[in-house]
Amino acid sequence: MKKNILSLLPEEIEAELAALGQPKYRAGQIFRWLHRGVGSFEEMSDLPKALREQLGEHFTLYRPRVAAKQVSQLDGTIKYLWQLADGNAVETVVMRYKHGNTVCISSQVGCRQGCAFCASTIGGLVRCLEPSEMLDEVLFSQLDSGLPLSNIVLMGIGEPLDNFDHVMRFLRLVNHPQGLNIGMRHISLSTCGIIERFDDLAEQAPQLTLSVSLHAPDDETRSALMPANRGRGVERLMDSCRAYYERTGRRISFEYAMIDGVNDTERHARLLARRARQVGAHVNLIPLNHVEERQFRPSTQGHMKKFIEILQAEGVNVTVRRKLGGDIDASCGQLRRREAGSKAPERR
Ligand code: SAH
Repeated sequence: MKKNILSLLPEEIEAELAALGQPKYRAGQIFRWLHRGVGSFEEMSDLPKALREQLGEHFTLYRPRVAAKQVSQLDGTIKYLWQLADGNAVETVVMRYKHGNTVCISSQVGCRQGCAFCASTIGGLVRCLEPSEMLDEVLFSQLDSGLPLSNIVLMGIGEPLDNFDHVMRFLRLVNHPQGLNIGMRHISLSTCGIIERFDDLAEQAPQLTLSVSLHAPDDETRSALMPANRGRGVERLMDSCRAYYERTGRRISFEYAMIDGVNDTERHARLLARRARQVGAHVNLIPLNHVEERQFRPSTQGHMKKFIEILQAEGVNVTVRRKLGGDIDASCGQLRRREAGSKAPERR
């Protein structure tokens, strides 16, 4: 079977070249071409023709196609639906902030975590993305939009810690000085709380920013919303967050989608404040995006205001996420579902 050359690091391409009887120094050239977005080995114009042909015999090189694109008239947010080699599709969002353009990427096709308010998980997990596919979400969003992308958030479709090895390899690819060279401090990873992976993450990517999708500070509410909480529990999640913070020195942020009548009472606010202080976390409140298939509604402005006041009075660092792209398919997973229509997703 042919190998996917785009998931390889320069030193690995070197080893492959050596095995083909080719000089190692070509690896850097090839890596740079790949990370500039060429769609074929033919385009690597400074490589000898024989080498280009040999690469074509031994490696695959597939680039995603734009299956749909939406541009917000309100704030310039761009949403891409990328069609992958096997016909599956994932979403990527480009957001324009003053501090730089940020790309939000998917890490899986679908998700197995089953959060009750989320659109990405409705059809379950189809498959994990390859490192190359995540790289291409960043690279082709940059090439197509013409916007230099300085920040990456792994907050699209999928649970990144359920695709741990591929995500770590993606980070090394995107971080590479001969590639996109995006610094780890400019990358955030969001998880529903797969605590079994926190130590590995702290070890392999100590400089990235970890976001934990908390959404409720107590087991009763959190387990009802997020199956990942069942059998783990908020207390253990807090211990893991604390340990992660102590080990990396990087403050965690808690994502908290405000859901009307579910997690937005004063009791929740007080307990959330305690949790945040317990682990030195920053709280990022998100007004819930309404998902057609789900019964939940966003909190009222009044409840949000009260909630924020309580957190602030308790000394918690809290921000409210600005809603971007309000006129295009809001939360992740929606565009993919719309385009898929009645077609069954392909499984591997
Ligand atoms: N699986 C990871 C990565 C997904 S990130 C995680 O759970 O963190 C996507 C973020 O958007 C998560 O914080 C998720 O909980 C949140 N989210 C999902 N559906 C939402 C909705 N309808 N409204 C607001 N936030 C939502």
